[in-house]
Amino acid sequence: MEQKKTCPLCETECEIYSISPLQQLFTIDCPICGKYNLTDRAKEHLNSRKNSFYIISGITRNFYELHKDTGDFFVIKWEMIRDDAKFQAEFVSKAPKDIFEKASLLLQYIHRKSTYSGDIVLIIPSQDYTLCFCKNAKELIFHINNIRDLGDIKADGTMRDYSLSLTAEGWRKIESLNKPNTESRQAFVAMWFDKSMDEIFAGGIKAIEKEVGFNMFRVDKTHFIDEKICDKIITEIKKSRFLIADVTGHRQAVYFEAGYAMAMGLPVIWTCKKEETEVENCCFDTRQYPHIFWKDAENLRIQLKEKILATISKAEK
Ligand SMILES: [Zn+2]
Repeated sequence: MEQKKTCPLCETECEIYSISPLQQLFTIDCPICGKYNLTDRAKEHLNSRKNSFYIISGITRNFYELHKDTGDFFVIKWEMIRDDAKFQAEFVSKAPKDIFEKASLLLQYIHRKSTYSGDIVLIIPSQDYTLCFCKNAKELIFHINNIRDLGDIKADGTMRDYSLSLTAEGWRKIESLNKPNTESRQAFVAMWFDKSMDEIFAGGIKAIEKEVGFNMFRVDKTHFIDEKICDKIITEIKKSRFLIADVTGHRQAVYFEAGYAMAMGLPVIWTCKKEETEVENCCFDTRQYPHIFWKDAENLRIQLKEKILATISKAEK
């Protein structure tokens, strides 16, 4: 009698085939863990990670969902599971840390599957719990109920299957999740290249790096070629969490860089030397935004630190 094959991770009945007998590599086609590859040696040692199977399944399933069109599957190798440090780096560090991260994985999945606003995405908890690194269907149902109660999705169904769709609030959340650079520790500083500004940068901006936890990146003249904005500047803005635009001297480049950052959805903090406000038409391009007006480097340091801690840093907690 033919023995039924079961997935080494979740013990569900599945297809297992050897794709490369020489390399002793298997493909497991599991409805819960997705399609993944496993080396012979990893298969032998897999049970040493039994307590963390739900994490491995979460990784293989999510990898499968993201790459299935390419036919590229996650490969579990012995080197990845043999010691704790390697296992931590390859698996545990990639898993969601709390219920909020799990909920956002679920939202992102529904978002990826939705081809239009209001589209219905079917979820079968007994098969799909690994999408959010859950231990079982019950845990996934908890997350479904949770994000439904928060107003992010509409959910119809029974324990067996759910029809889910994102609400307007859910779309808004996804869009903010997909904003660039929420992990970045760099702030881009756009300001005039005048010598008088060097002291302002050093004492008023660079000086607060440690206190606010951001590295202040200032462009210098070498980043401009024939007055054109160099690629380096665009790259650094893209890498930054937010931008500080000092409009003292009204340089065209400062407005350009700030505009570019705003278009990318990065927060912009506007600053300007106080005396300039007395000049007519000061900040004519930007006066609809609140500015920090500073007298000297020390005065800027105090105000800027307060502003960053109250807006950017606070938003990250
Ligand atoms: Zn499985």
